Amino acid sequence: MAVSQELLAELKETIGSVPCFDDPKMLLAKSRDYYWYSPILKQDLDQCQGQLLVRPETEDDVIAVAAACARLRIPLTLRGGGTCNYGQCVPLEGGVIMEMTKLDRVLEISDGRVVCEAGARIERVEKAVAETGQMLTMFPSTKRFATMGGFLAGGSGGIGSLRHGVLRDDGNVSYVRVVTVEPEPKIVELSGRDIQLVQHAYGTNGIITQMDFKLRPATDWRHSIVLFDGYVSALNAALTAHAEGIDCYLLSVVDRRFSPYYRRLSDHFPKDHDALFAMVAPKDFARFEALVTGHGGVVALDMSHQEITVAHLPPAWECGWNHTTLQALKSEPSVWTYSQVSYPQPFDRSLIPGQMARFGDEVYWHHEIAMMGGQLQVFAIPLVRWSDEARIREINDSFEKIDGCTVFDPHVVTIEDGGMKTIDTSQVDFKRRADPRGLMNPGKTRGWRPEMAE
Ligand SMILES: Cc1cc2nc3c(=O)[nH]c(=O)nc-3n(C[C@H](O)[C@H](O)[C@H](O)COP(=O)(O)OP(=O)(O)OC[C@H]3O[C@@H](n4cnc5c(N)ncnc54)[C@H](O)[C@@H]3O)c2cc1C
Repeated sequence: MAVSQELLAELKETIGSVPCFDDPKMLLAKSRDYYWYSPILKQDLDQCQGQLLVRPETEDDVIAVAAACARLRIPLTLRGGGTCNYGQCVPLEGGVIMEMTKLDRVLEISDGRVVCEAGARIERVEKAVAETGQMLTMFPSTKRFATMGGFLAGGSGGIGSLRHGVLRDDGNVSYVRVVTVEPEPKIVELSGRDIQLVQHAYGTNGIITQMDFKLRPATDWRHSIVLFDGYVSALNAALTAHAEGIDCYLLSVVDRRFSPYYRRLSDHFPKDHDALFAMVAPKDFARFEALVTGHGGVVALDMSHQEITVAHLPPAWECGWNHTTLQALKSEPSVWTYSQVSYPQPFDRSLIPGQMARFGDEVYWHHEIAMMGGQLQVFAIPLVRWSDEARIREINDSFEKIDGCTVFDPHVVTIEDGGMKTIDTSQVDFKRRADPRGLMNPGKTRGWRPEMAE
């Protein structure tokens, strides 16, 4: 479904000085995210493309675009850094792509909280808050390019979730300012639990222009790699370090079979050992080392961020979460895809040897230790050898039916078929207020049907 050139011309005229781009190569690039991790999405989405890119610089620009899209009934897909991987940024029905990255001001930093514009890159916000001796409670491993608003609307958690829970846990984000998509857009301010109305809503129900984020005191984490003779020993060491309250910000357990893909770390992550990538507070490093040694581990690398940068090695946060998948896909793009698995609470570690045995060389393992809802939450982002769609579905089904896990399916485009599983009616109700004509990122939520549009 494409919008007519006449309508697009009228939109351009209406929005006046808001920067617009229609170079085909640029439009193609800005219609992409990391959906190609999934051969299924690659096939489904490669043809989808927006027709006009707009890059607002102020909230007034955003309002002008929102009003014009609503009046002319033009689909509108929002874009931050474009690093999400469920095709969230891919316009399924053409229309306008609004890239938010020029709304990038850090507005206020106080003790424990930063307020910024939604298009600010996460790393930029980090640098600003570092000047006050603070850091974000969490960030995705894509923080160099990802934006604050994109993280809230498309992400779930990341580095730091080990200590501070996931995005939707209380207090990590407690204020969001949203522009509605109507002929006369409104500003809606959400606070407290209400931020969940737009969290992980894929930009389907309002344009986030400002938000806050919780801060914690900055720590000069030690970036460590600990090697183990067995995967389960590495996982047990990570779980024990967490249970004993060792001050860590990241604990990622990575199967030895990933080692050839971690090329820059070939001296520190050999193929005959499984690895625990950790970020550990300097004050607790001696305790950490004693604990991992007690589990049979050997510390193969221990550097500050400054040291690791000088050594041209990747920081630990680029060795876990979905960066594991990226390492493999960079080397062997047509061989691999992946899954995202959430284990039931409380975590039953006896599931792991069975899962490893069930799939052998078809699945390489990687686990993340996190907190969710105040409880230990273990996630896996395993690498899965690509054969065909039926086999991927079979593997994901087995995680759910045999192991009782929940799969955040990265081979589908809707919020519900991915992680949420059910339609969040409160998000749909909010969409009635914030996008009553149903123009935002069409096709990404099953909760909205075309006949619901005003
Ligand atoms: C290698 C790799 C590692 C990753 N690691 C993590 C991780 O650790 N944790 C994690 O949660 N995710 C992770 N992701 C997914 C993604 O990188 C993050 O969620 C990231 O924060 C998305 O930010 P972005 O600015 O790139 O958002 P985009 O990809 O641009 O957008 C994400 C969604 O938000 C919507 N959106 C963007 N801006 C706004 C706005 N202002 N208002 C409303 N909606 C908006 C978009 O329409 C889209 O649906 C990873 C992805 C890759 C490829």
